[in-house]
Amino acid sequence: MFRIIAVVGLLIGSCLAKKLEVSLVAETLVKSRLESGVVGARERQAAISDLFASAGCSVEEQRIDKHSGNVICTLPGETTSTIVVGGHFDFAEHGQGIVDDWSGSSLLPSLYQALKGRPRQHTYVFVAFAGEERGPVGSSRYVKKLLSDQKAGVRAFVNLECLGLTPVKVWVHRSTPALVSRLSEVARAIQVPIQGVNVDRVGDDDTHPFLSAHIPVISIHSVTQETYGILHSDRDRLDAINLDDY
Ligand SMILES: [Zn+2]
Repeated sequence: MFRIIAVVGLLIGSCLAKKLEVSLVAETLVKSRLESGVVGARERQAAISDLFASAGCSVEEQRIDKHSGNVICTLPGETTSTIVVGGHFDFAEHGQGIVDDWSGSSLLPSLYQALKGRPRQHTYVFVAFAGEERGPVGSSRYVKKLLSDQKAGVRAFVNLECLGLTPVKVWVHRSTPALVSRLSEVARAIQVPIQGVNVDRVGDDDTHPFLSAHIPVISIHSVTQETYGILHSDRDRLDAINLDDY
């Protein structure tokens, strides 16, 4: 059994697919990466670094304080035009913090793995952020440390935050409209259901510093009115994830 994990290619215009390719990663691998987050808060940075290593990416650490730092994996493309994809590995220390946000950060090594075997125009930078629950400290540091030509080269930031509670949702109020339409075209093409659910009142996320730097963003999640109570509670555990939705 395999699951679709990454879609490579662009849909040009409103409905004409120029080229769309799908890469697959084994479901068992995606699941084992999700399970590897059931460790203490202090162990999570090492756990995400190990996952990137198992996917074949050597990471850099960008310290945010004495105890933690962002974990960065770069996949070069034919150009320096860059897409940053992120999730955060820290958690609120209630429950296991698997939904918020090991579900997003532990998917990054699988996305790297799915994309690395294909020719690609863009450079992809996968960032597992530290300190999101404090602020968002890690993503702010990351954006602040971008040199001006690097910042100008970032074409989009894709945030993966709290996945697998329900089928895929997009925080439309927070996201750049062109990226929302692009995602919905791709979702339609690969027949994955997607819905807009705004979570303005649930909290902030790592898109904030990117938006402040005028970088287009899209925030992908799975939170609904019925499920948001799981976040920052003892119910944020591995068994809260519905693997079919994830
Ligand atoms: Zn979060």
